[in-house]
Amino acid sequence: MSAGATGPAAVTVAVVGSVHQDLHLHVGELPRPGETLMAREWGRAPGGKGANQAVACATAGAGTAMVGAVGDDAAADAVVAALRTAGVEVALVQRLASRATSTAVVTVAADGTNSIVVAADASSALAPRSVEAALAELPAVAVVLSQAEVPEAVVRAAAAGAAAAGARTVHNLAPYRPVGAALLACCDPLVVNEVEAASLAHDLGLDADAPETLAGRLADACASVVVTLGAQGAVWARGAEGGHVPSPEVPVVDTSGAGDAFVGALCASLARGDALPEACSAGVAAGARAVQHRGAQTAAPPAGATLI
Ligand code: ADP
Repeated sequence: MSAGATGPAAVTVAVVGSVHQDLHLHVGELPRPGETLMAREWGRAPGGKGANQAVACATAGAGTAMVGAVGDDAAADAVVAALRTAGVEVALVQRLASRATSTAVVTVAADGTNSIVVAADASSALAPRSVEAALAELPAVAVVLSQAEVPEAVVRAAAAGAAAAGARTVHNLAPYRPVGAALLACCDPLVVNEVEAASLAHDLGLDADAPETLAGRLADACASVVVTLGAQGAVWARGAEGGHVPSPEVPVVDTSGAGDAFVGALCASLARGDALPEACSAGVAAGARAVQHRGAQTAAPPAGATLI
């Protein structure tokens, strides 16, 4: 189901982040240095953590706007159309002249291992001031969500815009990068997977511990924290409180995009006014649904098919 945002006034979740075109190349083994391979199959699909999470959030029923940037090319038409089709408000997606839409080349080996290289181009050119201005155009925004595929200055602008609008900041620190204390302190919650949580703990000088204890320690640096645990679900912590939301056992087809599904559904739930434990339950349910089919944003990027 999709909410089908009906303009900026209906938006309760703003997603500030990346909008990519993904190019999937299927090979036997990942190429060695200096090696050229012919792909066995390939396909294109809309992607980017920002866009994937916006689609998940709209699918979970929240009026959702994407705040991001694409280039002046045919890929932009396709990735913006995918967002619109999913019910995401796209009026605040900037089309940057003389930039290319960000492209991720995802090389997948027969055993499922992959390597990903992103040419961030348009997403890296998103101007922090334009993000704050965009958020000011959303009168009902309750949650501002960002990820780490855009420059940190953009993430800080998202947090500043959220504060100015009286909205909550949710940051998904993925992919991991070191982040300043002031930004961490705004996050309610900071969402990380186990690997990102361990990296953050290391950078903060904390002992990496059992997930629940670790979440509690990380919560000292943030308003609240959620650590996703793959098949084990997720743990949350706020001050001295915390809990574990287990995942149902489901048949797993493809775990890529599970984290994005989790974060999008979590934010839709928070925007409805749910408390953090209920929002984590919504995230775990969405993550469990996501692992049962291929692809991050659309139902599946079938190998060999060109989706966009
Ligand atoms: P990421 O995809 O960012 O690495 P996780 O692997 O922790 O994040 O997955 C995010 C969420 O997706 C988990 O919290 C869980 O709810 C769900 N999930 C992931 N893997 C599975 C699985 N094998 N079975 C059921 N749910 C899963």
